[in-house]
Amino acid sequence: MPSLEQYKIPRDKHTISRKDIDDNALKVLYRLHNAGYRALLVGGGVRDLLLGLKPKDFDITTNATPEEIKALFRNCRLIGRRFRLAHILFGRDVIEVATFRGHHDQKSAQDIQKVKQSQGGMLLRDNVYGSLEEDAERRDFTVNAIYYDIADFSLYDCCNGMQDLKERRLTLIGDPDVRYREDPVRMLRAIRFTAKLDLKISPECAEPIRRLSNLLQDIPAARLFDEVIKLLLSGQGLTTYRLLKEYKLLQVLFPILFKEGEDDTATAMIEQALIDTDKRIAQGKRVTPAYIYAVLLWYPVEQRAHAISCESGMEYHDAFLLAMNEVLSIQVKSIAIPKRFTATIRDIWMLQLRLPRFGGKRAQRVYQHIKFRAAFDFLALRAQIENATELKDLVVWWQEYQQNNPLPVHQYGRQHINKANEKKPDTTKTAPKKRKYRNKKRSSNTDVLDA
Ligand code: ATP
Ligand code: MG
Repeated sequence: MPSLEQYKIPRDKHTISRKDIDDNALKVLYRLHNAGYRALLVGGGVRDLLLGLKPKDFDITTNATPEEIKALFRNCRLIGRRFRLAHILFGRDVIEVATFRGHHDQKSAQDIQKVKQSQGGMLLRDNVYGSLEEDAERRDFTVNAIYYDIADFSLYDCCNGMQDLKERRLTLIGDPDVRYREDPVRMLRAIRFTAKLDLKISPECAEPIRRLSNLLQDIPAARLFDEVIKLLLSGQGLTTYRLLKEYKLLQVLFPILFKEGEDDTATAMIEQALIDTDKRIAQGKRVTPAYIYAVLLWYPVEQRAHAISCESGMEYHDAFLLAMNEVLSIQVKSIAIPKRFTATIRDIWMLQLRLPRFGGKRAQRVYQHIKFRAAFDFLALRAQIENATELKDLVVWWQEYQQNNPLPVHQYGRQHINKANEKKPDTTKTAPKKRKYRNKKRSSNTDVLDA
């Protein structure tokens, strides 16, 4: 094996300085280093600093085993089965520390214990530890495999990540087909980094995605919920959404959007919501996954409600409740949306039926609903996209109403909203037919209503 020295970039040949690194990450690096272990920054932290961006977090890697890390830090928690990791906690700040991953020999009995792979080649567990060079090869993209060594502030670039950064190219380490099969989420990560960092995806890295996109179906729905948040709520939602569609990944994440062929109005509404969300994030405003899911699934719910109402002669309101349940229960099979968010999604949708009926005391009751503001924004978005006079008039009416009846500030306060969310009963209980809950252990937190 070639010596590590050949990959070394000394301090005076790169731009990363300690003052750019988070204090807590530095504390962890030094504690490991002073205890005699190797301690390096790696991943997004190094990559973003080299690109002149502010890193979202700092990931640390070391030759200390998880148990050795735990022995060194009182504020340490070991997590993960698939990949065992140490989390060092500093109040709300978490620094992730991973032990160098190694190559595994599927024939060795010891490694079989620590590594588990599905028949299709997906890694279900990967806890073989190794050297820094091996660790680099187990990472996903070359630009994510650059290390910053706290021992002498040099970098190690074992996979040619610096060159790719310079040419703004995203390249997978190793054989793309094998690496995507090992972990199909790498296809989503490829799209995320392309959009977030404005990189060009290399042709070898791009080619297999459309062919392998269906492998995402094997990823646990809870992991996909987290990934979709990173994809759509990180400030480049629109670009990411378009890339996901281009690479046939959106079709696997949200099959319901493509069941009846793609709908232009639905697409326009989703794109506008993502433009608005990207803007909010740029302004440092709060965004909620519930709103974007409500937008993504709105037209399937409407279409289904009309179909049910036509087929059965049921009142539209009741058909709408059924349609909401159906659409959500299909969606949570691929993406496990936690119940606290499905409750808000349902509120936003239900309020669309209540906002047009504002006679008597109704307006006041709707206005006091904890999700009024989100529902009103949703209505305004529909009016903008559908360009329908009744919707526009309704928006104007509610705008004037709000101006004439300003709410006390606390009404929109975060605490207030959270409290109301916790107490909120599941609105499915008002569904016209008796429905059964499927008792699924894995998704006890998730909306798993059977449609
Ligand atoms: P960001 O934190 O900005 O979203 P990141 O690259 O740091 O980007 P993380 O999810 O924090 O992403 O992961 C840290 C590092 O761990 C990555 O840079 C990469 O080296 C490695 N990594 C993460 N996920 C995978 C994966 N699925 N396969 C291989 N390596 C991975
Ligand atoms: Mg990171």
